[in-house]
Amino acid sequence: MIIVMKPNTSKNIIEDFIERLQNKGLIVHTDFGDKYCILGLIGDTTAIDPEQIQAHDAVEKVMVVQEPFKKANRLFHPEDSVIKIGNGSIGGGKLSVIAGPCSVESEDQIVSIAQDVKQAGASFLRGGAFKPRTSPYSFQGMELEGLELLKIAREKTGLPIVTELMGTKMLDKFVEDVDVIQIGARNMQNFELLKELGKIDKPILLKRGLSATIEELLMSAEYIMAGGNENVILCERGIRTYETYTRNTLDLSAIPAIKRQSHLPIIIDPSHAAGMWWMVEPLSKAAVAAGADGLIIEVHNDPANAKCDGQQSIKPKKFKSLMDSLKEIEKFKWSFDINEIGF
Ligand code: PEP
Ligand code: MN
Repeated sequence: MIIVMKPNTSKNIIEDFIERLQNKGLIVHTDFGDKYCILGLIGDTTAIDPEQIQAHDAVEKVMVVQEPFKKANRLFHPEDSVIKIGNGSIGGGKLSVIAGPCSVESEDQIVSIAQDVKQAGASFLRGGAFKPRTSPYSFQGMELEGLELLKIAREKTGLPIVTELMGTKMLDKFVEDVDVIQIGARNMQNFELLKELGKIDKPILLKRGLSATIEELLMSAEYIMAGGNENVILCERGIRTYETYTRNTLDLSAIPAIKRQSHLPIIIDPSHAAGMWWMVEPLSKAAVAAGADGLIIEVHNDPANAKCDGQQSIKPKKFKSLMDSLKEIEKFKWSFDINEIGF
């Protein structure tokens, strides 16, 4: 961080100000010009708030040169993080696919889809038990019963389960029953919830908010990590733009952008991004080519009668052929190279 002091500020005030910064553990380099004094801060500047500094009477300008996130920052952790989930993992170069229906509807439905996606090569089963719906009159999920059915599907297939937690009330239950806790786009900045997630060690799949910047996504990851839980997987699921032909706009550039800034794995959700089943294939292929660590795809055996998001769900047969073609694309996918980027 660079701080430019107002012209002709007295030396006493500047020295006082420097002392306050030094008391926060920072090294302060000073450059006294004719009129201006410039301070260069070295050390962990995450502890100071640039807006608070800017509010000081003697401060002309504050320039932030380093990202505000630390634990999620690749600068302090150059190697890719690999998040362990049961016997599997996400991150570190290999492609991991999470697949399953938007929501759990019955034992037959979830078990049969779990068997199909496993056979096609998926490593994790998704399925919503508690659903964040725009309308309070829409299907809200099977809730605790849905969670039990997911556990049955896990037992029958061995696939670890990924499901969404909507608030702190069910946290203990999720810690006990679930392999990866999904935090949906609408809760990305639920800071109270994020703080609670920091106190556990369960892997967290953190989805990007509907209108969140990449930095805001990384700051939300930082909330969880700052509390002590470093098992965070990021997910780009489309952001809201002026475009109406798709449900959201898939921001593929989030993959290289996040890879450069952070060591955390980043996966892509083409289903919620596009909102249409026939776009899932091209977007999945593009995501793998662009270096995504994985995908989360909605698969349903009867999309026309699905209780949620049928229009964006692909059938098991389509999922199988997609998985086969992804193996080919994986061979020439982009991967982040610290030396090439000159990090
Ligand atoms: C989901 O994965 O079912 C979901 C609701 O996703 P998002 O939070 O990205 O909308
Ligand atoms: Mn859905």
